[in-house]
Amino acid sequence: MNKGLEVGRGKTKVLFEHPERTDALVIVQQDQISAGDGAKRHVIPGKGRLAALTTARIYRLLNACGIPTHFLSGGEDEDGNEMLVRRCTMIPIEVVVRGVAAGSYLKRNPGVKAGTVLAPRLVEYFFKDDANHDPQYTAERIVDEGLATTAELAQMTDVARLVFDVLAHAWRRSDVLLVDLKVEFGRATDADGNSEIILADVIDNDSWRIWPGGDQALMLDKQIYRNMAAPTTDDLGAVKSKYEEVAELVGKFQKSTGGFVGIIMGSAADAPHADRVAKALGQLGVPSRKHVASAHKTPNYALQRVQQLDNMLGRVVYVTIAGRSNALSAFVDAATANPVIACPPIGSSFGGMDILSSLHMPSGIGSAVVLEPENAALAAAKILAVDDTVLYGRVLVTQWRNRVQVMEGDSRVNAPSGSNGKA
Ligand code: 5GP
Repeated sequence: MNKGLEVGRGKTKVLFEHPERTDALVIVQQDQISAGDGAKRHVIPGKGRLAALTTARIYRLLNACGIPTHFLSGGEDEDGNEMLVRRCTMIPIEVVVRGVAAGSYLKRNPGVKAGTVLAPRLVEYFFKDDANHDPQYTAERIVDEGLATTAELAQMTDVARLVFDVLAHAWRRSDVLLVDLKVEFGRATDADGNSEIILADVIDNDSWRIWPGGDQALMLDKQIYRNMAAPTTDDLGAVKSKYEEVAELVGKFQKSTGGFVGIIMGSAADAPHADRVAKALGQLGVPSRKHVASAHKTPNYALQRVQQLDNMLGRVVYVTIAGRSNALSAFVDAATANPVIACPPIGSSFGGMDILSSLHMPSGIGSAVVLEPENAALAAAKILAVDDTVLYGRVLVTQWRNRVQVMEGDSRVNAPSGSNGKA
């Protein structure tokens, strides 16, 4: 990658201007590894390459989920240890999310047993100051000292939790427990010239604790190095092999199982309802296939369609759309072991009919009933998200944006007249 002048340097990375773009920087990750605020330092040849690969793979996943980040490109094969990021002003706060008690949390809370699951996950803030060992700051102090506004800190906290949730999901799929994670944020200028908070800095195997099978003894992260008093060349080689393993595992995070939703409608008249389901799925990036097949009039064809969809490579969730009775969902449900969500298009024309009659069946029906098409789409997406981290992240981001909208609405209705309600 072409680089301009060096603009900054950390313990494990160097930042360069981009020769043409004033809104971008090049980050070059180094082979250094250090612990104890730089008191112990070594070089592991090839570590910078693995760190860039890990960082790029993590950020590609987070971008695909819709999380606002600084990552633009790079970090893969021909890029070596370099990547292109949006230029931003870093906020000098490390935001640590903890799902399980470990590390400095245990020192500060000696009454808590190592490995205790923390619920809700704990978010802590540390001021970046090596000379004073990154002291812990309260939210109030961060705001008082002008390091971030209340609104900025709220967004940083929300996004840090989101990132943890997405990465915990990804690691869980590899049977690895994400214990804790450190992230950082910066202020960038958006297309309209407004300041926005974005996830920045690197996220690599130095940034978290990860325990395969939930077993601390099997740890894969930098803690192995922190625990070594005087590492030999062989010890450093062992550390590197863990970093290689992690870079490879992270490469599978974005892998989708190719899941899709089979929308079966009982009549072509149900198409508008089916279109609403498909549209809501499309907004989450979930593919769908629509078919018209009646349980009453074309049972053989309906069965054949279900068998075809069942036999495709990706995981399938069905949404059935049929008025008058819920027979189609009962039919599809009996024909497949895959999940079925009935989304009957209830309207005034069906008034008085027991359109959910199949719900009264004594046993053997496993389909759920969801009336709003958009909700049926979300329910189907959540099922597929069990083994699709990008989809899981998109659902989380959608929920987060919904929460933000409500909170903004609350501050608007409570704003003094004449103000725009912004904090
Ligand atoms: P602790 O506060 O328990 O030492 O660390 C909490 C989490 O933040 C751990 O996952 C640790 O790896 C990460 N962390 C803490 N300080 C730093 C740092 O200076 N750089 C990086 N990359 N991660 C850190």
